[in-house]
Amino acid sequence: MADTQLMQIPGHIDPLTIPRDITPREDGRVDLIGLPRPQIAALFETAGLDAKAAKLRAKQCFHWLYHRGVTDFDMMTDIAKTMRPWLTERFVIGRPEVVEAQISTDGTRKWLLRTADAHDFEMVFIPDETRGTLCVSSQVGCTLNCTFCHTGTMRLVRNLTPGEIVGQVMLARDALGEWPKGSMAGFGPEADEDDLDDEDLGDYSAKGRLLTNIVMMGMGEPLYNFDNVRDALRLVMDGDGLGLSRRRITLSTSGVVPMIERCGAEIGVNLAVSLHAVTKEVRDEIVPINRKYGIEELLEACAAYPRSSNSRRITFEYVMLKGKNDRDEDAYELIRLIKHYKLPAKVNLIPFNPWPGAIYECSDPERIRRFSTIIFDAGISAPVRTPRGRDIDAACGQLKTSAEKKSRAELERQAAAVWAEKQAALG
Ligand code: SAH
Ligand code: SF4
Repeated sequence: MADTQLMQIPGHIDPLTIPRDITPREDGRVDLIGLPRPQIAALFETAGLDAKAAKLRAKQCFHWLYHRGVTDFDMMTDIAKTMRPWLTERFVIGRPEVVEAQISTDGTRKWLLRTADAHDFEMVFIPDETRGTLCVSSQVGCTLNCTFCHTGTMRLVRNLTPGEIVGQVMLARDALGEWPKGSMAGFGPEADEDDLDDEDLGDYSAKGRLLTNIVMMGMGEPLYNFDNVRDALRLVMDGDGLGLSRRRITLSTSGVVPMIERCGAEIGVNLAVSLHAVTKEVRDEIVPINRKYGIEELLEACAAYPRSSNSRRITFEYVMLKGKNDRDEDAYELIRLIKHYKLPAKVNLIPFNPWPGAIYECSDPERIRRFSTIIFDAGISAPVRTPRGRDIDAACGQLKTSAEKKSRAELERQAAAVWAEKQAALG
């Protein structure tokens, strides 16, 4: 996998180099979720169907899996009754296991999920008045170690597979009761989605749905798991798959510059970049990948990112850390950089979300307001994001799973050790 070869990290925190596109199960059955349709057809053929039948069954199955959300072959009513046990013997329709589901006082929901090989990761759903955003994880843990991020204190356990990534979206639809029931009539393209190209519209639309948007902003660095994220998002965007417009999907990266171009070419979703600082000194410290790919390189890659209209501005995420990156000069430098690289950009100011052992404090509300005003006055949108789900540790950067209960001192020691390892790896 080319993506993981970009930054070799020695020892047990090296990103997986072997793609795991099929999760092997103890009972030998193959999970169909996460596989593209031709691969499903190929599996059916290997299992004994002739080529034509395999293709037809794959098409039917795909529709049931992604349009109807069924998890049982017996529900596939247009497949012959005698055929269904044949499928059940050989295949499964998987979902990540739900270990725990929590709901915040503000309506944000967080799920602790578990892979078939027993690794825990998290997914968050954030409803607001106009949209419902699912925050999806791409890795268990993270390759990187931004100093303000709780996930960054975890080792990278492994990349999530396409099935585990798209499975999060499917699980959310299960939980929200958002699979169509009965006939498919009424799920045609919606005329009122005028901000979308026709080619973007699958059979589903945002109308009347709770889950309208997806952000790759959960645990992990999606561009260090490029192939799997791409394959999963293709299923999410496929008109015959989950049918969500790419305009409603945003991928956030800490700045894996060589993969940004491929992200534009092969996925084509909205891009968010975790900038967080405007000087080398500060960004090297808080987003250490900056030592490998600096601010100029990063912004050049952003300037080259494909976009067709103003609705596809690049989002720069900027976490507000007291006394670290929140001076007026930082705001002015941010404006200068955005203008210098002629970036159609908006800036999301994220109040720092604290976690046990964090070495930063959030900037004061007044400082954040002032920072925002400076940027707004330069004609660049710079809203302050309201933290969501803080009470259940679901806010940005708070995701960290740990099955074992450890003392605070132990956690801090462990975090320090992981930090030292990852720093050494970045050189
Ligand atoms: N790894 C990717 C995506 C996941 S993080 C990335 O870094 O972009 C999603 C966003 O939350 C990023 O902008 C990240 O920098 C930010 N974030 C991390 N920890 C945070 C914290 N404690 N408070 C506020 N934002 C945080
Ligand atoms: Fe990883 Fe993103 Fe957290 Fe940095 S901010 S440690 S890249 S999840």
